[in-house]
Amino acid sequence: MIPASFDYVAPTTVADALAALAEHGDDAKVLAGGQSLLPILRMRLNTPSVVVDLGRIAELAGITEEGDTIVIGAMTPYAAVLASEVVSTHAGLLSKAVATVADPQIRHRGTVGGALVHADPAGDVGAPVLALGAELVIAGAGGTTRTVAADDFFEDLFTTAVGDGELLTQIRIPKHTGWGSHYEKFVRVSHQWSIVAVAAAVRVDGGSIAEARVGLTNMGSTPLRAKAVEAALVGRAPTDQAVREAVAGVAEGTNPPSDLNGAADYRKHLATVLTRRAVLAAAGG
Ligand SMILES: Cc1cc2nc3c(=O)[nH]c(=O)nc-3n(C[C@H](O)[C@H](O)[C@H](O)COP(=O)(O)OP(=O)(O)OC[C@H]3O[C@@H](n4cnc5c(N)ncnc54)[C@H](O)[C@@H]3O)c2cc1C
Repeated sequence: MIPASFDYVAPTTVADALAALAEHGDDAKVLAGGQSLLPILRMRLNTPSVVVDLGRIAELAGITEEGDTIVIGAMTPYAAVLASEVVSTHAGLLSKAVATVADPQIRHRGTVGGALVHADPAGDVGAPVLALGAELVIAGAGGTTRTVAADDFFEDLFTTAVGDGELLTQIRIPKHTGWGSHYEKFVRVSHQWSIVAVAAAVRVDGGSIAEARVGLTNMGSTPLRAKAVEAALVGRAPTDQAVREAVAGVAEGTNPPSDLNGAADYRKHLATVLTRRAVLAAAGG
């Protein structure tokens, strides 16, 4: 289908993009890589009168280091994250999750920021960003900025802390240097969205798990962090039996969807199996 007609603006600074959003209010829609937005426009599920393209704003793209933090611009495409040695060395969990997103074409156009703001519960970037304790920087009218913890960023299905007239500008990830990590994604066919996936990062010290982070994809209306499992893993040897016991309750309190790919109970079973696999792989076991 062909989208309804709209005006198109392509600012070159964040300030100009915010001004365009302020000027047009609800009638404006932000365009990043377009991999989710363009299908929505083509199906006329959204009919903005103005599209504000962030693609020419150089300050929004790129990966830098600030001490113990990796700073990823919201407009950085997945492909750049995959190619980044900084990310693979200090936040390997994100590289591994991004490697499972769709296909190379989509990974070249789609952006990390676009995926996070779109907030599809089956999207693969939310769980690792949550598990790694990232912070999200949001810019608003008048040049204000605020920083939101990933724990508070995802509010509901397709809903985040980014409000009308605001832009996500940065994803700030604390370095997890020396941690093992794994993203275990369950799909029936390649390039499919996650039926369920688990993001795990662990730090093993002296033969036992010293710290653990676990994020769940598609186990509710938002990505989830399995904090009880993280706590239960600490102090255990990364053996099959010990990890099996620690992750047994991972699906408690989750509310996964039931659809053609699987019933909610099946997804809960999957989450338990995938968490064990992800933690063991992350620990090198
Ligand atoms: C065939 C197909 C298969 C896919 N498979 C997967 C998959 O397996 N796993 C997966 O995780 N994803 C998958 N995706 C989705 C893909 O990852 C999208 O690129 C991503 O969800 C959106 O990123 P984008 O940069 O294209 O954003 P866009 O589509 O441009 O924007 C998405 C939404 O975010 C808003 N937005 C974007 N950037 C900002 C910003 N900086 N500030 C404020 N608002 C913003 C837009 O207004 C829009 O509402 C798939 C997509 C397709 C088409």
